[in-house]
Amino acid sequence: MATVDYPDPVRQLIGHLKQMPGIGPKSAERIAVWLMQQSGGTAFAFSEILATAARDVKECRVCGFFATEEKGCAICDGVQREGHLLCIVEQPTDILPLERSGAFRGHYHSLRGRISPLDGVGPEDLRIGELVRRLDEGDFTEVILALSSDVEGEATCHYLAELLSACAGLRVTRLAQGLPAGGGLNNADELTLFRALQGRIGL
Ligand SMILES: [Zn+2]
Repeated sequence: MATVDYPDPVRQLIGHLKQMPGIGPKSAERIAVWLMQQSGGTAFAFSEILATAARDVKECRVCGFFATEEKGCAICDGVQREGHLLCIVEQPTDILPLERSGAFRGHYHSLRGRISPLDGVGPEDLRIGELVRRLDEGDFTEVILALSSDVEGEATCHYLAELLSACAGLRVTRLAQGLPAGGGLNNADELTLFRALQGRIGL
């Protein structure tokens, strides 16, 4: 039985939107229709902003945070950073909650994930080679492991603690109590992160 549907471009738009995290089929349809119904060039402006962001925003080759060619990386190029402290996180999005906690003004290194054998993610899939090179070339005296407290986060923590124990003169610590078991950094409030950083423990 033939049924009437949206024109192809709208269906394609809905198809792309519903692949995005947190957007189900209903929301995708609502957003697509809303965009089509806007006057004043809203949809064109949106497409240009999206294209600009996709073209200009890159991963910082040093820390893994978001950077642009024009302005560089706000973390690596930032002034008044404590050059001897390096905080290791899973994702670049974990950096901002730590920054907002105000407890840390050192440098960061995003692994772009964590070790997860069930998902086929091993150490070689993460930015661990870059981390080792960075530690060799820099003068860091302490590495803080700020990873999730779930099984994969713990496994990654153990792997890194073992790996980094070979680096002479390097203190390896991890976030202290306060982070909920199984929780990621994104779900923790700023005060919890502040306390977890202040009370970090040696490994
Ligand atoms: Zn950077």
